[in-house]
Amino acid sequence: MNNYEIDEKGFYGEFGGAFVPEILQKNVTELQNCYRQIMESDEFKQEFHALLRDYVGRPSPLYYAKRMSEKYGCKLYLKREDLNHTGAHKINNSLGQILLAKKMGKTRIIAETGAGQHGVATATACALMNMECIVYMGATDVERQRPNVERMRMLGATVVPVQSGNKTLKDACNEAIRDWCCNPKNTFYIVGSTMGPHPYPDLVAKMQSVISEEIKWQIKEKEGRDYPDYLMACIGGGSNAAGTIYHYMNDERVNIVLAEAGGLGVETGQTAASLNCGTIGVLHGSKMFVMQTDDGQIIEPYSISAGLDYPGVGPMHCKMFQDGRSKVLPITDDEALAAAFELTRMEGIIPALESAHALAILPHMKFKKDDVVVLTVSGRGDKDMQTYLKHMHKQD
Ligand SMILES: *Cc1c(COP(=O)(O)O)cnc(C)c1O
Repeated sequence: MNNYEIDEKGFYGEFGGAFVPEILQKNVTELQNCYRQIMESDEFKQEFHALLRDYVGRPSPLYYAKRMSEKYGCKLYLKREDLNHTGAHKINNSLGQILLAKKMGKTRIIAETGAGQHGVATATACALMNMECIVYMGATDVERQRPNVERMRMLGATVVPVQSGNKTLKDACNEAIRDWCCNPKNTFYIVGSTMGPHPYPDLVAKMQSVISEEIKWQIKEKEGRDYPDYLMACIGGGSNAAGTIYHYMNDERVNIVLAEAGGLGVETGQTAASLNCGTIGVLHGSKMFVMQTDDGQIIEPYSISAGLDYPGVGPMHCKMFQDGRSKVLPITDDEALAAAFELTRMEGIIPALESAHALAILPHMKFKKDDVVVLTVSGRGDKDMQTYLKHMHKQD
């Protein structure tokens, strides 16, 4: 029995559900009624898996990080989602959802993006499938993730900079939902993480579950058993973490330790640590831990990492955190930067800033020598070079 499956209304315990404006009710219900059936059909499975293999380059390697293992006193394996086509785990989900959109007869795709990885993945899927693509992105993120904006434009997508709020991911989500309300008939909204109204959290977790499906046989090949002692990942909306833990959620032998964006530190208020600092509320169609004031105003989040700069977190993770099934550490900007440089210098892998938050869990842990740790490197660091170079010059 899976304790972290949704109930028939799309709730994980008290979290989740579908809180949408009336005009979207029909769309959301349509999707709720067909997504499982389509995803479980042989035709979908075959198309999806062929794309994951031949287009994305899956399975992604499970790499034994020898020098880092010695340093932290464990057996550390990195799940290399950074090696996927377009450079992150997001492509798994975008390809899956565009297949779903086609089967539902939709012709126009919209998406929101923070770091631009979901925007690039969706623009890529749209180029491949010859679909119109509109990507909403906060104006702050358009500035700090410029290379991804150029990639989206080259792929043929229209990137719309959003000027409201602090011009980051939350504001991009608001605009995408607004667009969806105006174009409910022909438009499919490809949500980029395990958030949004039911069925998106479940749908996205299932699209990403290929990650832990692979970990199962890969770790069996390397260690002779099909489970690790620890699973680690960073958590923004929660999709790479959901994919990493999907097949182990009810396996109590496996400890789950996740990293959320602490920003300048949870005590400073300049943070995006929604699980550690949030209270229960509704954001973007779903009940979750949200950073908000006592009267329900959203508190503007802050993180150095555009992909984690969001004031909520997906409902499945809220339930697991509340139950104590997962441990979630707030990791500061400085810890993440140090971890990014450490991986680069010790293993020759430049990670995304988001993934660097997961790596920064390691110094907080006390391992036994034989502990098997699988940590997901959700993306590569090309898009963050500007931030990394600035940090390097500060150190000189
Ligand atoms: C978007 C992104 C994240 C955060 O999103 P999740 O849905 O929590 O996975 C993490 N890492 C990378 C590289 C991303 O692009």
